[in-house]
Amino acid sequence: MSFQDFGLMAELLRAIEEQQYTTPTPIQAQAIPAILAGGDIMAAAQTGTGKTAGFTLPLLQRLMVNRSDSSNRKVRALILAPTRELAAQVEQSVVTYGRHLPLKSMTIFGGVGMQPQVNKLRRGVDILVATPGRLMDHMQRGTVKLDGVEILVLDEADRMLDMGFIHDIKRIIKTMPRARQTLLFSATFSKEIGILAEEMLRSPTRIDVAPRNTAAETVNQSVYPVHQNDKRALLQHLVCTGKWEQVLVFARTKHGADRLAKQLDREGLTATAIHGNKSQGARTKALHEFKSNQVRILVATDIAARGLDIDHLPHVVNFDLPSVAEDYVHRIGRTGRAGRGGEAISLVSPEESKNLREIEKLLRKPITQLQAEGFEPSIVAHIKPAPQGRPGGGKPRGNPHGKRPANKSRGRNRANAGGGGGKPQPRRGR
Ligand code: AMP
Repeated sequence: MSFQDFGLMAELLRAIEEQQYTTPTPIQAQAIPAILAGGDIMAAAQTGTGKTAGFTLPLLQRLMVNRSDSSNRKVRALILAPTRELAAQVEQSVVTYGRHLPLKSMTIFGGVGMQPQVNKLRRGVDILVATPGRLMDHMQRGTVKLDGVEILVLDEADRMLDMGFIHDIKRIIKTMPRARQTLLFSATFSKEIGILAEEMLRSPTRIDVAPRNTAAETVNQSVYPVHQNDKRALLQHLVCTGKWEQVLVFARTKHGADRLAKQLDREGLTATAIHGNKSQGARTKALHEFKSNQVRILVATDIAARGLDIDHLPHVVNFDLPSVAEDYVHRIGRTGRAGRGGEAISLVSPEESKNLREIEKLLRKPITQLQAEGFEPSIVAHIKPAPQGRPGGGKPRGNPHGKRPANKSRGRNRANAGGGGGKPQPRRGR
């Protein structure tokens, strides 16, 4: 299958060619024809599947096909995204794929001044990409009207609900025409998403490329049981012995993310933190430094990391396990992208074993447990053992505590076995 098969207009095919995309991804193969046909869709797709082009390309085409000569430029398509970063990235895709079309787009999100957004809105915008909170601010001031919206996209709907945007979303939708096309994208499908979809969508086509609530198949997942106080040293050990050059680390709190990034940086591993308390400028700078390999470790909270467009990220580390199991799926969705392998490692303290069980329940499989020499916790009783025959070695059978012996045969963990006594030996990262 090729992009030509969809009957996309020449201007879009040209933009696709410029991106050097040759084959549609599975979500694109399903979503593009369904959206071009004008129906609603409900798609389960994680970031990295190519979903943005999957809705942006047909959205642009439909806006072009149904274009009227009206000089009163109303917002014709609204794309709602949970975070500023995601909104900015989606708008960038709109600009990229729509570069040969005369459609105007803009993004509105909080944390920056209102007035420049108001001025731009006044000049007329066809496609608006927005976070729900700031969009509500504009609506309350009367600086944006949505009564001309033909297409509504909810990107990462599950995340928007997690972030408490449900009431804003419902209020926003009330101001739109009923006769519109609605496209809902979500990495996971909870009961709440089902209720929202029921209310908003009309006989949607269901698209499910990433199996429901299943982590990407290409991601090699493992767990290191470790005491909370040893986590930072273990992380340094893994980064150094594995020679990882680009690592996204998840921390539960903003404060924890900051502290960890500072400590790692002090130890010679270039690191920076990204979270909601940072200004937009600081977040953009941190992301740029990480993407351009000036910084080796990016420590992020769930909300800040959501929707970060970082391609082919080889390593994701859960420094803390998320308290909501579905966040684990989001987090590891950062790696193993576009069919490439990736590694997701979780550092799990005995106190987090309940969270681990929840995650394994969601995945419907246990995660392989590994141990780095010198970092074995003395009590790991409640962490489930991995099944036999999986990488990571060690036989769980006959071990009432589920504790697995350090697997000295694994090259990754042997680096320090010779005389370092398992102590991490960070190398200079700069
Ligand atoms: P997304 O899931 O929308 O965040 O897209 C993930 C990445 O895949 C982005 O960097 C896109 O540029 C890239 N991408 C999207 N569609 C294709 C395609 N058909 N072929 C190759 N790369 C693609």
